[in-house]
Amino acid sequence: MTETQPITQAVRANPAGRVNRQETQTHPIVGANPTDPVVLGLDGSTKTIPNDAVAALRSKLQGSVALPGEDGYDAARTIWNAMVDRRPGLVVRCLGADDVINSVRLARDERLLVAVRAGGHNIAGNAVCDGGLLIDLSLMKSVRVDPTSLTARVEPGATLADFDREAQTFGLATPLGINSTTGVAGLTLGGGFGWTTRKFGLTIDNLISADVVTADAKLVRASEREHQDLFWALRGGGGNFGVVTSFEFRLHRLGPDVLSGLVVHPLDRAGELLPAFRRIANEAPDELTIWAVMRKAPPLPFLPPEWHGKEVLIFAACYAGGIKEGEEVVKPLRALGKPIADVISPHPFTAWQAAFDPLLTPGARNYWKSHDFTDLADGAINVILDAARTLPSPECEVFIAHVGGAMARVAGNTTAWANRDAHFVMNAHTRWHDEAQDSACIAWARWLFEATAPFAAGSAYVNFMPDDENDRIEKAYGGNYRRLSEIKGRYDPENLFRMNQNIRPAR
Ligand SMILES: Cc1cc2nc3c(=O)[nH]c(=O)nc-3n(C[C@H](O)[C@H](O)[C@H](O)COP(=O)(O)OP(=O)(O)OC[C@H]3O[C@@H](n4cnc5c(N)ncnc54)[C@H](O)[C@@H]3O)c2cc1C
Repeated sequence: MTETQPITQAVRANPAGRVNRQETQTHPIVGANPTDPVVLGLDGSTKTIPNDAVAALRSKLQGSVALPGEDGYDAARTIWNAMVDRRPGLVVRCLGADDVINSVRLARDERLLVAVRAGGHNIAGNAVCDGGLLIDLSLMKSVRVDPTSLTARVEPGATLADFDREAQTFGLATPLGINSTTGVAGLTLGGGFGWTTRKFGLTIDNLISADVVTADAKLVRASEREHQDLFWALRGGGGNFGVVTSFEFRLHRLGPDVLSGLVVHPLDRAGELLPAFRRIANEAPDELTIWAVMRKAPPLPFLPPEWHGKEVLIFAACYAGGIKEGEEVVKPLRALGKPIADVISPHPFTAWQAAFDPLLTPGARNYWKSHDFTDLADGAINVILDAARTLPSPECEVFIAHVGGAMARVAGNTTAWANRDAHFVMNAHTRWHDEAQDSACIAWARWLFEATAPFAAGSAYVNFMPDDENDRIEKAYGGNYRRLSEIKGRYDPENLFRMNQNIRPAR
């Protein structure tokens, strides 16, 4: 079979002549080998991919094919959120751009349902599909830092930990998220914010270029100079436009230590502490980021045992600047109330980036609902506190992320990410293990979401959207949706890449 020949054509030309069929077929098929893999098509029909064609695909790959039951199949389909248990019909475990091109070509020629998996962290579970072709990028993990040009080339399977480890070797960083096992790829394509966003901007504000395999199975480079429209759309438009095989980031000097840590208070003081947090956050220099987290206290070694399991308000703070200067800046935060514990001190940046990992391990059931806020109204605080007093399981939490700063100084139409005016992002993060708790946890998150809606900005962060929020996607992109839809229409008119917060292609 030649590089560009569809598998169905290859089947017709198969000298063994075992199969004889038309371009688009459904399973079962007369003459099909019962061991041939069956894969779901874009139109919902099933397609049989002959074993010969799978063997031909295998022979072209640097990586591997994993069929149900084969080595690597479960590793590829298992993602962070245990609510998602999907079984693709065929998995390609890619090791390079050429493997991605071959996978996309197969999907395009056979009109297969496609999912693209990187870090596998997305709450909605779009990284995996039932029945379709899974393009697994999780083995492509290389991070190459150039300390001279202050740039890094990153493959899409790299996690934040993979990135930070390499970048910090040279005292460098780019803004990423707060949980080191998250994938760089999905985080970047949705926008990306974390401890250094107020200082250095969103992750997408630090993206210089991306190599993308588009729906026609061609590799293109998107940057400010090439495929500018695609580059605009990739920066916040998620995986809608193709498969990114390499990201190029701008780096900044940071670390090795940053002033960072937690101040923990009893939740019953939160009524007076959250308005003070709002004031300090609103006045903070770009270097300072403070997140407020309300949850039951985990058994952290610095917390007195009598507080373990009790409701607490945690201020998590990071100063992305000099330690001495930071110590002055965080004084007002540390002077609030009578904390149960205050463990703000210099920490290695890589350790701070992983500080929340023990609370966010994979394998739990999770459901999220989130809102952007331009300000934190008293009414919103009251509702959030009601919710924090009635957490439906010990691992649930409400967090209020502090954004703005450099992120807000970029115009809302510079990239696809429209919600630059948000100053706080609230996430109702429900997390539990027993299926029997599904409805109670989901109902709690939905209640908090509805009750805080009157105070919210109306925009949304696509990377925090669960799978039942498809009706919210257009709103999330606000004034940028139409342009995104036009660009989608040019790069992916058939909507091959639809397992994502999907943007409909304009006709
Ligand atoms: C515990 C936890 C903490 C988080 N903290 C933060 C945070 O601090 N800040 C923040 O901004 N976000 C945060 N997030 C959200 C995170 O940004 C998203 O979940 C993101 O989608 C994860 O990327 P991934 O590569 O791990 O995900 P995946 O689930 O693998 O992918 C997510 C989506 O992107 C698509 N995709 C992935 N890679 C590619 C690619 N190379 N080309 C094309 N499409 C692709 C996938 O198809 C899927 O639709 C957090 C998530 C979790 C679970």
